[in-house]
Amino acid sequence: MNVCMVGTGYVGLVTGACLADFGMNVVCVDKDEAKIAALRAGKMPIYEPGLEQLVAKNERSGRLRFTTDLKQGVQNSLAIFIAVGTPPNPDGSPDLTFVRQVAEAIAEYRNGYKVVITKSTVPAGTGRMIDEILRSRNGQHDFSVVSNPEFLREGSAIADFLRPDRIVIGASDPRAIDVMKEIYSPLYLIDTPFVITDVASAELIKYASNGFLAVKISFINEIARLCEIMGADVHDVARGMGLDRRIGKLFLHPGPGFGGSCFPKDTAAAADLARNYGDVFEIIEATIRTNERTKARMLDRIVSVTGPVEGKTAAVLGLSFKPETDDIRESPAIAVIQSLRRAGAKVRACDPAAVENARAVLADVVFTEDAYACATGADFVVLATEWNEFRALNLDELGRRLKSRTMVDLRNVYEPREMKAAGWKYAGVGRG
Ligand code: NAD
Repeated sequence: MNVCMVGTGYVGLVTGACLADFGMNVVCVDKDEAKIAALRAGKMPIYEPGLEQLVAKNERSGRLRFTTDLKQGVQNSLAIFIAVGTPPNPDGSPDLTFVRQVAEAIAEYRNGYKVVITKSTVPAGTGRMIDEILRSRNGQHDFSVVSNPEFLREGSAIADFLRPDRIVIGASDPRAIDVMKEIYSPLYLIDTPFVITDVASAELIKYASNGFLAVKISFINEIARLCEIMGADVHDVARGMGLDRRIGKLFLHPGPGFGGSCFPKDTAAAADLARNYGDVFEIIEATIRTNERTKARMLDRIVSVTGPVEGKTAAVLGLSFKPETDDIRESPAIAVIQSLRRAGAKVRACDPAAVENARAVLADVVFTEDAYACATGADFVVLATEWNEFRALNLDELGRRLKSRTMVDLRNVYEPREMKAAGWKYAGVGRG
């Protein structure tokens, strides 16, 4: 089957490469000419483990191509995925401009029956909007609109795509459901659960899932704050909670607040969706406030260990919003650096993959090759993103590079007792 993937960002590129690996003929389309030129030259526009090899393998097989020609992509394909960005507007609502533009182009270019599939995260009602756009022109050509939200996580995107917990398909037309089952047949064969529902329910499943996970993260971050006040240990509390199977132990790790391109945007969009219907999504509104408070209180956590930071130099380890990605969108590490700068600290920083992206948004920060160079001459270390290379630091060497052995570990990588025994002034999050 010929498949067109519109948008070759984190989602579109991974999905396109994986579907080609499933045996589909995939053409990935992007309006960003530099991105397409780089992809054709074998250069990945993003850092995602395993992606370069997967793309190269499927390009060699002839099943994966890159182009800026949307018209050709639409006309040669039966299934067209929309995987463009849906960034937040200042009021929290998602900006659907790119989705609308692509839907209009598909409406205009279509030359036969097409299955138009939204993979971008969009509010319930977007499928109806796409349906209306397609209906408004070129009426002689039939079409079906499908919602197929994506749940992959950056950093483990390929593994997530190939072994998902579920595939959600929102569609009302049996022809479109058959096309979706064929596209995902390798996952069907390994007994991946398929949730087949109407378009609006599928759209809502994505917001409900991300909203729930954001609530869970914020919940444990609130518990962490209480633990600090009461001298308790959030790791023990999380373990005691998580062993209850009704709760589950995942997403109970405290930290500097959630970030990335999804949770902040999708919680804001879910709150906006409710507001548009005259309702209030109370728990999501509270989660958004809690997350802001969590991010803001990280400076207090640092100052509680270092004293006033004005004139001091911080060595910040990690810039991406989580390990194994170069994505810095809404990264708590960036927020921490900005609050350190506002408080008058100088900042040195390092990251295995995200320095180039960070350079574009951070002024007056010295970027270094690795953690040891970063710590050289600094007053204290802030561990902001738990990359593997920061989990196994040579603490003696790190300590020698610093003016004093002081670490604020916003990811609770190290054990407070061991750090104190090794002569470190140390604090994690929610640990007494
Ligand atoms: P991204 O910003 O990395 O990529 C979007 C791409 O779309 C860009 O390359 C852009 O040039 C391209 N684009 C925009 N308008 C276009 C047009 N008219 N024609 C062709 N290309 C166009 O975004 P992303 O992180 O891949 O996210 C895409 C969608 O998937 C969003 O709705 C997001 O919420 C959702 N999503 C993201 C993740 C994730 O982990 N990043 C996970 C699940 C869902």
